[in-house]
Amino acid sequence: MREKRIALLGATGSIGSQALEVIAANPELIVCALAAGSQPLDALAAKLGVEHVQVGGDLTELLDACEPDVVLNAVVGFAGVGATLWALEHGVTLALANKESLVAAGDLAVAAWKRGGGLLLPVDSEHSALFQCLEGRASETIDSILLTASGGPFRNRSVEELESVTVEEALAHPTWSMGPKITIDSATLANKGLELIEAHYLFGLAYERIEVVVHPTSVVHSLVRFRDGAALAHLGYPDMRVPISFALTYPERRATSVPGIDFSAGLQLEFEPPDPGRFPLLPLARTAGQRGGTYPCAFNAANEVAVAAFLDSRIRFSEIAGLVEDALGAVDGASVRDLAELVEADEEARRLTERRLAPV
Ligand code: NAD
Ligand code: MG
Repeated sequence: MREKRIALLGATGSIGSQALEVIAANPELIVCALAAGSQPLDALAAKLGVEHVQVGGDLTELLDACEPDVVLNAVVGFAGVGATLWALEHGVTLALANKESLVAAGDLAVAAWKRGGGLLLPVDSEHSALFQCLEGRASETIDSILLTASGGPFRNRSVEELESVTVEEALAHPTWSMGPKITIDSATLANKGLELIEAHYLFGLAYERIEVVVHPTSVVHSLVRFRDGAALAHLGYPDMRVPISFALTYPERRATSVPGIDFSAGLQLEFEPPDPGRFPLLPLARTAGQRGGTYPCAFNAANEVAVAAFLDSRIRFSEIAGLVEDALGAVDGASVRDLAELVEADEEARRLTERRLAPV
């Protein structure tokens, strides 16, 4: 593998720190830039000998300055949108963990990707799995894709029980260890809703051809059904270092320290349909995606505000979905021409949601 200069955005997070492990294991991977939201990066930058460092602010300035071969966008939330568009527009390989940016900016991102002509390698485990199952297949051979969902910590809770779950319970994910925002999204299934929209933009498939299935052990990371009745699945233990390494070392698929599946220990491969009644954010995301325009942006923005309010104990878990639904009902969802207009749509949905938050 030739040397690759990597801009690591979101370096202090869950994905960011696992990416640093992958980078340490592959000498050709060089960090050329580091960014985070608020935590200081001086010690890490000194250790890695990185001169381009930024905390908060406009990440595109950092990217202009360091000229990376790969942008690993592991920022959380809409804050990652500028970096996603920058990489796609410049034809620089984008290793994308920051699904919110592709959801919010889908149409702008796909247009920038076409103009830039670079690689977009998903880091989200389901989409990395799908990318691998789809690679090299003619689109007319594909019937549909299935995104697997663990079901989160509340898979078996009733509507009544969901009223009183605590932040602590919601943060205890059964199969994945992740940052707080995506962990709450996994408990509400908003994460799978975001992933549905992410898959639509990544693979150019109509929403009717993207299905979600609950698979509690998270061993099957996703599946593709082909028109001849065959399906290909991607299996592995739930460990983000695998999709991170796949994206950073693409197309070489370097070794990682993650063991292959041990079938002798027995494997549970159970699947069940998601319950839209208990997890309304999943159908809400599907509707937002199908409506298009800035509905996905509004879905994401309202969800970010609601999740932050839940994490601050300002609202109950069961109120998150209602806030998102209200925001989707109140915005006009019209398409945007550029990032400035998208930022306005994002801010409008945030304002609407903030206003509806119950007083502390
Ligand atoms: P995290 O909260 O652990 O880390 C987020 C990182 O983003 C931190 O380094 C934080 O400082 C940085 N950040 C926040 N705001 C920023 C800003 N304005 N500018 C620059 N940096 C900023 O989150 P995470 O779990 O690592 O998730 C990161 C992204 O990857 C999310 O979009 C998430 O949905 C996605 N993802 C995560 C996992 C996982 O296993 N953690 C799996 C799939 C996808
Ligand atoms: Mg995922």
